[in-house]
Amino acid sequence: MNKPVLLAVDDDPQVLAAVRRDLRSRYRNSYTVLSAESGAEALATAKELKSRGDALAMLISDQRMPGMLGVEVLARSREVYPLARRVLLTAYSDIEAAVRAINEAHLDHYLSKPWNPPEERLFPVIDDLLDAWQAESLPEAKGLRLVGHQWATRSHAIKDFLASNLVPYRWLDVERDPDARALLDAAGIGADALPALFIEDGSVLANPEPRQVAERLGRPLSAAFDVYDLVVVGAGPAGLAAAVYGASEGLRTLLLDRHAPGGQAGSSSRIENYLGFPAGVSGSELTRRALAQAQRLGAEFLAPLEVTGVSADGGYKRLTLSDGGELVTRTMLAATGMVYREYTAPGVAEHTGAGVYYGAATTEGPVFSGRRVLVVGGGNSAGQGAMYLARYAKEVDIVVRRESLRETMSQYLIEQVDKTPNIRLRPRTEIASIEGEGRVERVTLRSVDDGSCRTEEADAVFIFIGTRPRSDWLPAEVLRDAKGFVLTGRDLMAAEAFPRTWKEPREPLLLETSVPGVFAAGDVRAGAMNRVASAVGEGSMVVRLAHAYLALT
Ligand SMILES: Cc1cc2nc3c(=O)[nH]c(=O)nc-3n(C[C@H](O)[C@H](O)[C@H](O)COP(=O)(O)OP(=O)(O)OC[C@H]3O[C@@H](n4cnc5c(N)ncnc54)[C@H](O)[C@@H]3O)c2cc1C
Repeated sequence: MNKPVLLAVDDDPQVLAAVRRDLRSRYRNSYTVLSAESGAEALATAKELKSRGDALAMLISDQRMPGMLGVEVLARSREVYPLARRVLLTAYSDIEAAVRAINEAHLDHYLSKPWNPPEERLFPVIDDLLDAWQAESLPEAKGLRLVGHQWATRSHAIKDFLASNLVPYRWLDVERDPDARALLDAAGIGADALPALFIEDGSVLANPEPRQVAERLGRPLSAAFDVYDLVVVGAGPAGLAAAVYGASEGLRTLLLDRHAPGGQAGSSSRIENYLGFPAGVSGSELTRRALAQAQRLGAEFLAPLEVTGVSADGGYKRLTLSDGGELVTRTMLAATGMVYREYTAPGVAEHTGAGVYYGAATTEGPVFSGRRVLVVGGGNSAGQGAMYLARYAKEVDIVVRRESLRETMSQYLIEQVDKTPNIRLRPRTEIASIEGEGRVERVTLRSVDDGSCRTEEADAVFIFIGTRPRSDWLPAEVLRDAKGFVLTGRDLMAAEAFPRTWKEPREPLLLETSVPGVFAAGDVRAGAMNRVASAVGEGSMVVRLAHAYLALT
């Protein structure tokens, strides 16, 4: 396999020589640096690389070039190398144009010329982008391969587990991919043992549970200590932030998640409004960075591991775990967020994992290349899901009960959806039923105005409807509102049961629940803002409050 390529494009020979020189000085051992003098030449080079089976890691293009502007070169290169990182070189006067082009060209970064000294202004950016690229793409020969039936719930579960845990793998559909059959025959694995995960060292896991996969990949599954200062339950943005601050501020911190790091945000294909990421950031990239940061600072992370109950025992909290184990901690954060509500039309439950998916657009999207899919829901998560699916699917229909998306989706997403030719809105419509033999084949849509029905062919339905808090694992003493969201701080004092539950001679701290030393942050909390930034803010605040609680005990 050849080294992955970094391709630089500029019509100015001096600038091109400078980019080439700087890139080679640092990356030549791991990457091949190529250059092109025009957009057309760069696109032709990209196509040639593709036909040779080489990997393109990054395209760096100047903006002002005769014939084709840099943003167009970058946008068009997506058709050939969708995963390559894209960097625009701009003069100061072009920055506004570069910012405007972020959506169109899917820019990962724009760099102002000149970039001296490269150690400060060029290499940190390129290092970061190449790390992200490497995390997403692994040379096929080296990586994990998962062989299974596309329409099997078990296959979806393992795919989702690997993708959410940021483990790159190659999916081989046993019905479509000739390599799949050859691999199974060579390993003597029958159709009843699928999915099968082929590991780099030549070993195979047949029809594994997510926990077995985690174990096989060398992930720790049990806690290193008997007692912690802070156990964070749930590794979405709130939990990850708490782990970063807890570990950096001297608390022995354990973070755990029933599934994978990232939470709802981890399933987002592009978070556009998180501070400091002008080009947006994918949920998986934000998760990868946050988890690395928490672990570097000393937080321990375990997944998949579910907390099934909590009890207060003097100043300590005792947590029961899904693997039968127990943990003891002085403070605890419930950061268990929300989960999509089940859609209850006939055929939905039977096809879940076999063409019906809750969220999961980023896990399953590529499989639906050239097919027809429906997205149910009108919120931002549905909008992002539709945009992501539209990269692959032939047609994406957004099914909503309301007349329009105006009241439920952010304006920037409505504009993106409007501009995407293969997305169509189906207003005042709901799913009446889903049919198909072992997979989704047809969907019956019903008008909410007159009840008339219409059956259409479709290959998948992605559901992004209302959510419910994940708070049912908490004991009754942790007071909640009528919808199940956890009450904290002063909000608790209005609850009828508060005087019976709270026995401390002080008021609860800001994000403290009705059990002293148990905190709640993020979407699971009553009054949460349901944003990545607010979850991160609350998770960070909890660490100060945990210190305050520990000082009182
Ligand atoms: C598709 C999508 C796109 C979005 N886009 C944006 C956006 O662009 N901008 C924005 O600001 N917001 C966005 N949001 C909202 C944002 O992601 C959420 O507000 C945020 O993730 C909430 O963070 P959290 O940490 O509170 O909870 P969550 O993200 O819900 O994480 C909770 C975690 O807890 C774990 N867990 C649950 N129960 C247990 C248990 N008993 N034991 C162990 N672990 C458990 C879950 O597995 C999960 O990982 C989006 C949401 C979705 C679904």
